[in-house]
Amino acid sequence: MKNDVPLKSSVGVIGAGIQGVCVSLHLIRKGFQVTLIDKDDPGKNSASYGNAGHFSPYASLSLNRPDILIDVPSMLLSTTGPLALKWNYVPKMIPWFLRFIKNCTRKKMMYTAKYMHQILDLALPAYDELFQEIDISGLVESRGIIYFWTNRDLKSRELEINVRKELGVEQQLLKPHEIHDLEPHIKQIYHSGVLYPSARHARNPRKILIKLFELFLKKGGKFIKENVETINFSSDNKPKIKTNLNSYEFNKTVIACGAFSKKLTDQANENIPLDTERGYHVHFKGYDHLLSRPVIFLNRGFGMTPMEQGLRAVGTVEFGGLDNPLSKKRIMNLVNNAKYLFPELGKHEDEWLGFRPTLPDFLPVMGPSKNYKNLFYSFGHHHLGWTLGAISGKILAGMIAEEKTNLDLSPYKSIRFS
Ligand SMILES: Cc1cc2nc3c(=O)[nH]c(=O)nc-3n(C[C@H](O)[C@H](O)[C@H](O)COP(=O)(O)OP(=O)(O)OC[C@H]3O[C@@H](n4cnc5c(N)ncnc54)[C@H](O)[C@@H]3O)c2cc1C
Repeated sequence: MKNDVPLKSSVGVIGAGIQGVCVSLHLIRKGFQVTLIDKDDPGKNSASYGNAGHFSPYASLSLNRPDILIDVPSMLLSTTGPLALKWNYVPKMIPWFLRFIKNCTRKKMMYTAKYMHQILDLALPAYDELFQEIDISGLVESRGIIYFWTNRDLKSRELEINVRKELGVEQQLLKPHEIHDLEPHIKQIYHSGVLYPSARHARNPRKILIKLFELFLKKGGKFIKENVETINFSSDNKPKIKTNLNSYEFNKTVIACGAFSKKLTDQANENIPLDTERGYHVHFKGYDHLLSRPVIFLNRGFGMTPMEQGLRAVGTVEFGGLDNPLSKKRIMNLVNNAKYLFPELGKHEDEWLGFRPTLPDFLPVMGPSKNYKNLFYSFGHHHLGWTLGAISGKILAGMIAEEKTNLDLSPYKSIRFS
């Protein structure tokens, strides 16, 4: 494998976030020799570490919606709102925004919802399959997730409820007293809410990721901690990878670098319009007893999840690329919003910035490269990459093994951007 020595049925997987780890595990199960490469320790600081921990099979409706376009200006102007821009990045992001706007018609919204629903519906059973092989006691809770809102933007709430109804998503509408009965510590600022009873949450996403990674190693997988710099192709189309330290050649390669994948897909001569929605978290240590399940305050676009680290206040969307530093204003937005719901909260800790990998049509990229048949992709799962780890891994491993499937996988292929 080292120094360009090829292996039989070898697969190199670049990126040890939840996508890379899950596809690696499924490939090992199918008998491939798998080498996972990451520039860092798995889950050290990636999106798969710092997310809200929701397993959200209900969340088929994404952000490409007609009503979002109307709401954007007021969201940007509000200091407590969910949306922010790093102005120095706006010119670079204009092509992404234009494509996004085109995807905000009702028809495109429903297309995305249909194909997100197709995989979200299989997301929990796919995790259950993997969880049979690791000890997750104390790490996954099945108490549902609550979204609540004030009496503003009620048309948008109606739209969400109706689309989910159309898709057959299980949801229970909640009156204020029902929210209070379920989560009595939240300040009663809400007008109404919804409980998604099938949702689960992780009490420590990183610990789950590490357990899956250790299972991969136990099954014979290899891990290399190096930064992948370039991908080339041999005359017989085998991917050749150069890292900061070595060169490797595999029969097949998977790019699963989350929001950082574009640096590599550009080298395969594909112009995939991947960008990032930056998100933040902070912890309030010792306050996780205030909630028994995650909640999302929709008007302010953030949530709180009870975790081992404390109460994690998490969310917001900031458009600003991969290189801008963490924004203290966004952190304070989260802290103030958390204290608005829970005035008793004390000092926060662990300020974290993470990168959601997002395509303008809000569908992930899963499948072969359009130019190189031995190169595969699994990235772009935006707000739902944690939920979709196990099922995406299963689907992609099936594609690499050339297995038949009843699923319609064409909507996820990168060729849609050509
Ligand atoms: C604030 C926030 C909250 C979220 N909440 C939720 C939630 O509740 N539920 C949900 O389903 N999803 C949630 N998400 C989304 C989810 O976290 C991501 O979609 C998912 O973690 C992406 O996983 P990934 O494996 O594709 O990428 P990542 O987790 O980002 O992993 C990519 C890996 O690639 C490695 N890498 C990158 N470039 C290279 C290179 N050149 N060489 C080697 N290695 C490289 C990185 O080091 C990293 O380990 C949230 C995201 C954020 C930011």
